[in-house]
Amino acid sequence: MRLVLVGPPGAGKGTQADVLSRKLGVPHISTGDLFRAHISQRTELGVEVQRYIDSGKLVPDEVTNEMVRERLVEPDAAKGFLLDGFPRNIPQAEVLGKFLGEAGHTLEAVLEFRVDEEVVVRRLLARGRSDDTEDVIRHRQEIYRSETAPLLEYYHDIVVTVEAEGDVDEITARAIEALGGLD
Ligand code: AMP
Repeated sequence: MRLVLVGPPGAGKGTQADVLSRKLGVPHISTGDLFRAHISQRTELGVEVQRYIDSGKLVPDEVTNEMVRERLVEPDAAKGFLLDGFPRNIPQAEVLGKFLGEAGHTLEAVLEFRVDEEVVVRRLLARGRSDDTEDVIRHRQEIYRSETAPLLEYYHDIVVTVEAEGDVDEITARAIEALGGLD
């Protein structure tokens, strides 16, 4: 299964992606996690992207797209994947479509996690990651509204929406039901 998760920062996508990836037997690919791994290993790419991440800006598309392309050709992604945090804008979605098309694949669904902005800001402040200061959080929400939310229109024929407030297990159950069960 080839899935993309979309939702504002703090919607709980990462947590849900971990659970769903185990249940679906496909890898959870989070661009945020890939960037953070580069930063903690102090790779060249890590050094290059740190300032974007610290200020809540999007890393330039060329850098992000190339990192995703390399990840998607790893053998474990051949049978499917759950993309978390990518694409984050329409140009990235076009590039993803091209990557998949070249391999003869398509996305099966885009799972939208819908949650009220004030709820996610409170959740993120409680999480306390280094890019979780209130200014940076607000900036990430703004980018979500202006650049990422238009993906819901772009993918309108395959979007499945899940209300993402409440208990983690309930949200997982709703997501699986929305995807039409597990097959
Ligand atoms: P996340 O873990 O998804 O909240 O991402 C943390 C940060 O990584 C974001 O605020 C961006 O700076 C960067 N990032 C993650 N995914 C992308 C992407 N697809 N395009 C550009 N920047 C990204």
